[in-house]
Amino acid sequence: MSTLRDEAAPIAVIGAGLGGLATAIGLLKQGFRVQVFEQADAFGEVGAGISLSPNASKILAAWGLGEPLAAMASVPLTGNIMNGLTGELIQSQPLGEVLEQLFGSPYYQVLRPDLHALLVGEVRRLAPDAFRLGCRLVDIEGPEEAPVLVFANGERAAASLVIGADGARSVVRARRFVDEPARFTGHIAFRGVLPMAELPAQYHAPRSVVWLGDRRQLVHYPLDNGRALNVVAFVSDVSWDREGWQERAELSELREAFAGFCDEATGVLEHFEGRELYKWALYDREPVDDWVRGRLVLLGDAAHPMLPYLGQGAAMAIEDAWVLAGVLGQHEAPADALADYQARRVERARWVLLESREAGRRFHEPGQDESRFSDDAAMRTRELFAPGPASLLG
Ligand SMILES: Cc1cc2nc3c(=O)[nH]c(=O)nc-3n(C[C@H](O)[C@H](O)[C@H](O)COP(=O)(O)OP(=O)(O)OC[C@H]3O[C@@H](n4cnc5c(N)ncnc54)[C@H](O)[C@@H]3O)c2cc1C
Repeated sequence: MSTLRDEAAPIAVIGAGLGGLATAIGLLKQGFRVQVFEQADAFGEVGAGISLSPNASKILAAWGLGEPLAAMASVPLTGNIMNGLTGELIQSQPLGEVLEQLFGSPYYQVLRPDLHALLVGEVRRLAPDAFRLGCRLVDIEGPEEAPVLVFANGERAAASLVIGADGARSVVRARRFVDEPARFTGHIAFRGVLPMAELPAQYHAPRSVVWLGDRRQLVHYPLDNGRALNVVAFVSDVSWDREGWQERAELSELREAFAGFCDEATGVLEHFEGRELYKWALYDREPVDDWVRGRLVLLGDAAHPMLPYLGQGAAMAIEDAWVLAGVLGQHEAPADALADYQARRVERARWVLLESREAGRRFHEPGQDESRFSDDAAMRTRELFAPGPASLLG
């Protein structure tokens, strides 16, 4: 039994993003006392889509969230890669049942606010008083073995363990680990969600479509049990460089960015007339190898902020949460548990971070070559999706 359970101060999770919430669920299910400190005054995830690959959906199912997750998700039956300039099909892959049979759990596509709300609801069910909203961490005082959290509102809190799940711009990482500047990639992700009822039939199929060409990428897939279509578009060589979910974009920017793409590809953009569009500048950061200092530990984007080209950032945060909660439940000494966590997670997260960077490079390369998508993609998919609750802790 972990001695952390006997300590007076609770475990502090900094950040109620997908990683922090998953961590809180894992810890609460192991019987730990947890406080989740979130800088926002209220929960309000933006309406973007997110893919949850089998490695992540297996963990949510193991926590008993499989049914509500399935009810809010779409499952793509095929994944098509298209030449955005000519409209030709480059590659079509079966997803749906094939992935579920291979990896033991579905590949889901969901609305972030729905997933976030599911996790918030589960934390509240397990511990109604776990959340402390409006608490922006600004500093950590005291020795690493007895950290004291300092918040912008003047509050201070002791913690038996501080879990930095405060995202890519982590204060925990900057104050007590490394504070290296991020590098702007010159890539932007545009994104928006459309109601399916207003779209022509060609978008209704349970199909994930990626249009590629000339260092640009336009992706769309259904979400919310087919009630919405998520659109994400990546472009290169831009100078606008703000990172954040709330940055608005104009349809004219998107039209301009995809000039030269065929009408079949760009047709979806016209449905954004009069609707909200957002943009996010993509920053690259070096992997951090040292995730543990005394009673401070990093998790999710705070530990491994990765580019979104493999759609694995949240999945890795959920894997981290499963492993951290699991080892804290297994080891008596917190230091042993944290060393075990780091040993199990650093190498995998580093590999996924570097593969995500490489996928971005490949996707934005000039020219189209089918072999790029089939060569090692199957191997990579296996290594990404195969791990599950048992093997991650085995
Ligand atoms: C365009 C795009 C598409 C993506 N698509 C996918 C996908 O399909 N699949 C996938 O798995 N991943 C995807 N990702 C990655 C995924 O969004 C992130 O990896 C994931 O959200 C990380 O979760 P997190 O909890 O670690 O960090 P965050 O989601 O950033 O959460 C951090 C939380 O901490 C809070 N916080 C920050 N600082 C403080 C502070 N000082 N004090 C208190 N609270 C604080 C924040 O308000 C926030 O609530 C995508 C990312 C982008 C940009």
